[in-house]
Amino acid sequence: MKFVAKKNKKISALQEKKGISPPATTDSKAVSRLKDRRKKQPSTAHLIEGVLKGNITALSRAITLIESNNPKHLNMANVIIEACLPFANSSVRIGITGVPGVGKSTFIESFGMHLTALNKKVAVLAVDPSSTITKGSILGDKTRMEDLVKNKNAFIRPSASGNTLGGVARKTRETIIVCEAAGFDTILIETVGVGQSETTVHSMVDFFLLLKLSGAGDELQGIKRGIIEMADAIVINKADGHNINPANLAKVEFNRALHLYPEKASKWQPRVSLCSALHNDGIDSIWEMVLAYIELTKANNYFENNRNEQNKYWLLQTIEAQLKLDFFNRDRVKSELENQLRRIENQETTPFAAAEVLLKLK
Ligand code: GDP
Repeated sequence: MKFVAKKNKKISALQEKKGISPPATTDSKAVSRLKDRRKKQPSTAHLIEGVLKGNITALSRAITLIESNNPKHLNMANVIIEACLPFANSSVRIGITGVPGVGKSTFIESFGMHLTALNKKVAVLAVDPSSTITKGSILGDKTRMEDLVKNKNAFIRPSASGNTLGGVARKTRETIIVCEAAGFDTILIETVGVGQSETTVHSMVDFFLLLKLSGAGDELQGIKRGIIEMADAIVINKADGHNINPANLAKVEFNRALHLYPEKASKWQPRVSLCSALHNDGIDSIWEMVLAYIELTKANNYFENNRNEQNKYWLLQTIEAQLKLDFFNRDRVKSELENQLRRIENQETTPFAAAEVLLKLK
C-alpha cells in the first residue's frame, strides 16, 4: 500500500514538472462516476423543487418516473405526486377527440398558440392505448405543432405506453397533477377514438371537445352516440375554402341532433362551432365557449362536484386494477388457472365452479 502511494506521489511530481495533469486515480474516477450518476438521477427532493419552480427538465424527469414500471421509480413517483398534490387541481382540463385526420394536432397547435398568447401555460398530453405497440403514435408527429413545441409556455408530452388503457390512463392522471404543480393552467388531453379511450379521457377532464368534419356523410354515419352525448362542444374543423357551405349545413344538423339529447347534469347546453385550425379561424370563440362553460359550472358547483366524482371513480378503478394484478400474479393462481382452463375445454367443469376454485386460492 505504502509503496503504491509513494509511487503515485512520485509520478504526480514528475507530471507536474512536465506540465501534465495527473491521470484520475481510481478514487477520483469513482467519485466522478458517482457525480455523473447523481446528475442523471436527481433526488426526489430535487425533482419536487424543480417541478414546483416550473422547471421543464425536472417535470419531464418526474413524468418519466411516473411512466416507469420499475417499482423503485414508482415509489419515487408517488413521493413526487404527493408533494405536488397541494399545488394541483387549479387548471382547466380539456379533452380533445376525433378520428385520425380530422385535424387534432393542427387544432392543438392553433388553440395552444392562442392560449399562450393570452399568457396561459399549456400542457398537451395524450391518451393513446395503441401506443403500447407504436410507442406513442399520437402527438408523435410534432411537425404539426411546430410553433407550440418551441413555445416556452407550452409543454408537449406524447402518450405514456402501457399494457392496458387503464394503465395509460392512470399515468396520464398523475401526469396532470405534476403539470399543474409546475404551473400549467390549461391541460389539453388528446385522444383518438379507439375503443374506450374517449370515455376514459372524458372521466379526467372538465370540458370535452369533439372535432368533426363536414361532408363525407359522417354526420349520419359512424357517430358513436355515446361520444356525442359526452361532448360539451362539437367543433367542425376544416371550415375553409369549398368546405364552408357543407360545414354550415353540418352545424345545423348537429345542432338539431344535440337537441334530442337529455339535459346534461352540468346544465350546459353543448354548442356546435366551426373552425379552420389551419387558418386560425374560429379558434378564439372556442376558447370563449370554454370560459362560458367554466363560469356556468363553477357557479352551479358542477365543476367541483364533477372533479370529486372523477376522483372517486379513479379510486375505485385503481383498486380494481390492483386487485386484478395481485390476483393474476399469484403463483398458485397462475398454475391452477391453466388447470381450470383445461378442465373447461374438456367440459369437466363450468366457468363458475372454476372461478370459485381460483378465487379461494391464497
Ligand atoms: P389528426 O390526425 O387528427 O391529428 O390530424 P392532423 O392535424 O394531422 O391533420 C390532418 C390533415 O388535415 C393535415 O394535412 C392538415 O394540414 C389538415 N388540416 C388540419 N386542419 C385543417 C383545416 O382547418 N383546414 C384544412 N383545409 N386542412 C386542415
